[in-house]
Formats: sequence, C-alpha cells, structure tokens
Amino acid sequence: MASEDLYAIAADWLKSLEVASSAGDATSFVSHFVSDGWFRDLLCFSWNFRTLSGVADGKSRLEHSGLRDFKLDDHTVNAPSPLILPGLQGIEGVQGAFTFTITKPAALGRGFFRLIQDGDGKWKALTLFTNMQDLVGHEESSADQHGLYEGRKMTWEEDVDAKFRAIEADPTVLIVGGGQAGLTSAARLRRLGIRALVIEKNPRVGDSWRQRYCFTVPIRMCLPPFKGTMYLSNARTTFPKYIPKGKLANFLDSYAADQELCIWLSSSIASTPVYDSSSARWTVEVQHGDRKVFLNPKHLVLATGYGSPRIPTWNGMDEFQGALYHSDFHKNAEQFRGKRVVVVGADEKVTMVQRSATCVISSSAIEQTYFKSPFPDGTPIEELDFRNNSMPVAFLLQLAISGGTQHMKMLDKELHEALRKVGFNLTWEPSPGSGEVGLVGFLFSRLNSGTMLDVGCGKLIVEGRVKIKQGQDISHFDKDGITFKDGSKLSADVIVLATGNESIMNTTRAVLGNEITEQLPPKVWGLDSEGELNQTYRPSGHPGLWFAAGSFEFSRFFSKHLGLQILARELGIA
Ligand SMILES: Cc1cc2nc3c(=O)[nH]c(=O)nc-3n(C[C@H](O)[C@H](O)[C@H](O)COP(=O)(O)OP(=O)(O)OC[C@H]3O[C@@H](n4cnc5c(N)ncnc54)[C@H](O)[C@@H]3O)c2cc1C
Repeated sequence: MASEDLYAIAADWLKSLEVASSAGDATSFVSHFVSDGWFRDLLCFSWNFRTLSGVADGKSRLEHSGLRDFKLDDHTVNAPSPLILPGLQGIEGVQGAFTFTITKPAALGRGFFRLIQDGDGKWKALTLFTNMQDLVGHEESSADQHGLYEGRKMTWEEDVDAKFRAIEADPTVLIVGGGQAGLTSAARLRRLGIRALVIEKNPRVGDSWRQRYCFTVPIRMCLPPFKGTMYLSNARTTFPKYIPKGKLANFLDSYAADQELCIWLSSSIASTPVYDSSSARWTVEVQHGDRKVFLNPKHLVLATGYGSPRIPTWNGMDEFQGALYHSDFHKNAEQFRGKRVVVVGADEKVTMVQRSATCVISSSAIEQTYFKSPFPDGTPIEELDFRNNSMPVAFLLQLAISGGTQHMKMLDKELHEALRKVGFNLTWEPSPGSGEVGLVGFLFSRLNSGTMLDVGCGKLIVEGRVKIKQGQDISHFDKDGITFKDGSKLSADVIVLATGNESIMNTTRAVLGNEITEQLPPKVWGLDSEGELNQTYRPSGHPGLWFAAGSFEFSRFFSKHLGLQILARELGIA
C-alpha cells in the first residue's frame, strides 16, 4: 500500500473517531471497531488498566473523560505504516499512533490503532490503545540537572543532601526493594516531584543481580527510564550484546546515583506495617543499619522481586551428605567440576530431573522474534515500549495460538525434535487447556516459570552430557542421593533444587502479615479476566499499597503509570 494511502486511511478513521469522542457518542465510538475488536486503556477512562472487547462497555466513561484534539502522528517511527501481525497472515491493515487531550482530568494522552477492513470494506479498529502520558501541569521533569547553579545559594551536594533530608523526614512513598522495579519507580516519582524513599536489604544497589548466576537479555532490553537512548549509544562501545549480570548490577548502582534516588541500604521492614484509614498513612518500622526508624508514608510500594525460593521437603533431605541448595543460591559451578550433580526441576555427570513438560525456546528464536526491533537503530526505546504495550494482552495470546507459537516452533524445530528424541518433554501450554500460548503466555501467567531459554543447555541434553530423568516424582533422599517413586535411584555429590519461587503473595504475607494480605485479591501478576496483570503497577485492592514487578521492559513502561496514579491521589483527583 502506498504511503499516501496509509495516511489517508488513518487520517479519515481518526477524524471520524474524534467526532464520536468529542460528542461523547459511545455508540458511534464503538462503531469504529470491527465487531471482535479490542480496546485497551491505561488510565484515560478510569484510574486503572482495562481491556475491553465487544460492544457493551465504555459509554459513560467516554462522555466523562472527554477525549479531544486527536492528531495523527506523522513524525515518529509510529507514524502510519502497514500492519503486520503473526497469526493474521493475508490481512492487509494500517497501524499508527496519535495524540489527544483528556478533559477530566486535564491530561495528555497518546493512542495507537490497528485498522483492518470489515466485511463491507470499511476501515475499522482491530485494536485501539489509549494511554495517559502526563497530567497537565505535572509533567515528568525531563531536564537533567545542567550543573550550573546560577542564583543558587547551595552547592550541588548541599542541594541533593537537602532533598534527601526532606525525603527521609517525611517520605510520601516508601518503596521496599531496590531492584530494577523499585529503582525505576523511584526515578519516575522523583521526576513527578513526589518524595520517595527506597529501602533495600542488601548493602549495595545491584546486589540482587550480583548474587545471581546469569542474565540473558540484550542491553537494549534492560534500559531503565531516563537513560534509554543516550545510554544505549555509550553501551554499544563498552558492553557486549548480552549484558553480563555483574555489569548490570554496577549499572543499576550508577543509575541510582545518577538519578539521585534516596536509598537506605542494609535496611528492611522490622515489624508488620499498620495502615490507618482515617489519616490514610502507614506506620512502618524500618531497620536502617543498626537503628530502628518509624516512617509514616502515604504509599507503600512492594518491589521485593520474585517470591522466596520454593524448597519442597522430602523425607531424608537432612541425611544427604553432599551439597544441597536452591538454584537462587547458585553462583558458579567451578567448585563442583567432576562431581555428580542432580538438578531437580534438568556432563555425563549432570542429571536433570524433569517432572512435567517445559517450554523451550532458543536464544536465537527469541532474538529473531521478541528482541528484534521493528525500528531503526537509535530510535528511542520509549517508542518500542509504546508500540509493544499497545497490544491488548488477551489478543496477543489469541494471536500466539492462531500462528505465533507455530512460528516459534518452526524456528526451533531441529532443537525440539532432538530434545524429544532423548526423552525431554516439551509444552507450549502454561496450564492445561490454556491453548498453545507459548512463551508470552508463560510470561504473563507464570512470570516465565516452566520455561527454558536455551543458551546451550539444549545441546548438552541432546548430546547426552546432561541426562534427563523424566516424569518421576521424588520419593525420598538418603545420604548419597535421591530415590524416585518408581524405586530408581540417582547418586549425587551435589543436588540443585531448581524448583522455582514462591508467589509474590508469599513475600507479601511475610512483609505485611496475614491481616492485610487476607484483604488483597489472591494474586499479584497473572492475568485478570480482561487480560491485564493482576495488581501490578495498578490498584492493589488495598489503599496506599502498590506492587512493582517484572522485567526491565515492564518496569520501564509501567513505573510511569504507577507514578501517575500516586500523583493523582496526591492531587486529590483519583
Ligand atoms: C536467575 C534469574 C535470571 C533472570 N534473568 C532475566 C533476564 O535475563 N531478563 C529479564 O528481563 N529478566 C530476568 N529475570 C527476571 C526479572 O527481570 C528479575 O527477576 C528482576 O530482577 C526483577 O526485578 P525486581 O526489581 O522486581 O526484583 P529484584 O531484582 O529481585 O529486586 C528486589 C529487591 O528487593 C530487595 N528486597 C526484598 N525483600 C526486601 C525487604 N523485605 N526489605 C528490603 N529489601 C527487600 C531485594 O534484596 C532485591 O534487591 C531473571 C530472574 C532470575 C531470578
């Protein structure tokens, strides 16, 4: 399709949508969608994340919110372009971004549409995404300190110190956990002028990564907000394509300093926090180094990472005389060279115990699909985030089932066939009956638990250098290994429990106690009935309580929404 045609189709449809929107005419607004179209909204129509499909919802919200001033994006990489979706082969479409204003509250928004032709040949939305970008008058301050302090009476150090003292004396937000989710949330809040204090139990920012054994994402994918493109251009000269975990840890450390985030290290919550609904404040006792401090924040953000290691118990575990530990505590394998190792959960001396099936995807398949940007080098990462998140997750899962997963399977066909031959059990369903949603389904429903991103282990399994013990439950341990329920036995010097992590609710219970945890919906993460992530970066179900979690991409994008929701509450408009 010629570029003029793309623009004309997009402009006509958008103009007509604006007329419906300005008039608050929900029926007309809905008529701009194909009958099985999708509408995802982040904060424009409610102070929440919603995905609507079908024609019943949205009437009163449309009139109330008053979306106006639609302007087609004609200058970014998200300007009108042909629509290409895996799982929708053969369908010609147009996609593009636009900006708009919101009347109530006064805000700026940005949208993204994917148009296809309906049965009558009319262009209609297959998906529409509306996203609040900024509250007018409270935009994220984007100007970094320029280093010159004309007219100021303080040095830069004194200035930062004074800001930190003000935060420490009365933090509006207390963020528990200084990993990427906590740090990006703090950086967003700072730019919105909200006092946020981070407490981190480790002695150094980045320690959560220093203590791990791997990181498998290219540098482009793990940039936090406000550092994106500039940092990426520097990183190209000093970083390998896949950032090593130690470098990532050091980067987070420098990010915290660079963004002037107020962080108490070696600090954690000392006793169960209490929420007073009349003052809408928490009382939180914090162990800060060797002293105890009471804080009264209005908001508590739990950014404590994955749940604690899930360590099942089997009879005889304490009799085992070799090394036994959870994979979270694995640092490196050098000390075990030549020993017999059993990995519970998969050289000739390592055996992986595989109880159920695993979703295996090679790093090259991931690279070709998820990591490949549709945009030229140097494009701000925010444009990619915006495009990616414009897709309603429930529709994304449908696309995976109707073709996306099949495409991924083809990319790894040889690996999968070879793995099957040696008895390795594969699946693309995170739960029975979920359909073959593949990696994306595992990510949203199980935080990737049950997947294996193959960076070489697959080859070791195929070559028999890592053996597979398949489909058997463990009966018990004894002093030199494991006995299975079928009576077979594996002798071992080292047993690694790659048995996953407890749910985030489990950590929540440990931090907030039973009473508050019982008031919350049962899950953090996983998808709700509309396909939005349960309680993550959105209202948790308890006033003044928020959860921040997930990969860098999630944190980078949704930390802004967390900031906007907290800001709106502080302004008394939410
Ligand atoms: C082994 C491993 C490899 C991974 N590899 C990748 C990858 O390659 N790419 C990717 O995108 N994602 C990866 N992930 C997933 C995800 O990105 C990471 O788990 C990421 O660290 C999540 O960030 P976070 O800030 O939510 O949690 P974390 O980085 O775990 O940070 C949580 C922080 O909270 C602190 N904390 C916890 N409880 C308390 C408390 N009570 N008081 C004070 N502080 C507390 C912890 O010390 C920690 O610093 C991986 C995860 C693991 C476990």
